[in-house]
Amino acid sequence: MLIAGFEKNTLLDYPGKIASIIFTYGCNLRCGYCHNPELVVEPCKKALITPEATVLSYLKKRIGLIDALVITGGEPTLQPDLIPFIRKVKSLGLLVKLDTNGLLDDIVKEIVGLDIVDYWAMDIKYPQEYFKEYGIDTKAIKSTIDMIMGSGKDYEFRTTYVKGLHVIEDAKGIGEMIKGCKNYYIQNFRKGKTIDPSLNRSNSFAEEELEAIKQIISPYVDRVVIR
Ligand code: SF4
Repeated sequence: MLIAGFEKNTLLDYPGKIASIIFTYGCNLRCGYCHNPELVVEPCKKALITPEATVLSYLKKRIGLIDALVITGGEPTLQPDLIPFIRKVKSLGLLVKLDTNGLLDDIVKEIVGLDIVDYWAMDIKYPQEYFKEYGIDTKAIKSTIDMIMGSGKDYEFRTTYVKGLHVIEDAKGIGEMIKGCKNYYIQNFRKGKTIDPSLNRSNSFAEEELEAIKQIISPYVDRVVIR
């Protein structure tokens, strides 16, 4: 595992749980609004790397104090030893949350089959037609959505809405992709360190626009929250 970020405690990343979180290096997308360019487009810095053994030994010492490990990135499913790593974490009795962009549906299939992830979080970046336009395999995305929804585990789908890249009406196409989903989060773009440095405050949606997005997507999902 190429772990390029390790936060020992977070109350924000696994709903209702105390978790540690790791950030894996490398991604198969290049979202302009990505807040983690050091994990995606910048060379992997040695100074950022935390050995897997350090993470596991920390978790072992905190058994009873920490409920879960959140694995995010980057795109964690790119790590060739992700599955053995998750097994090691599970053997400590911890819950595992895995964040993914859903492109590598084969890995997701294997993990769902092994029943080693307790909470899935998947970014639904765009409606289907955008993925096609960007040359991204929509079959894989749809297959991952279906597997997560059918896994019997907790899950959430979420979209970061970026004005200029998204329009309010995109919520309809996204809703159609995740129809019947339990939890959906609308995330507004926030200015900050991004892969595309030209993105700024004007790329954030106003409160009433986020509400309009919520109205459009509400009929498709059980619960929708503006985060
Ligand atoms: S936002 Fe996520 S999927 Fe997009 S480039 Fe960043 S880490 Fe990859």
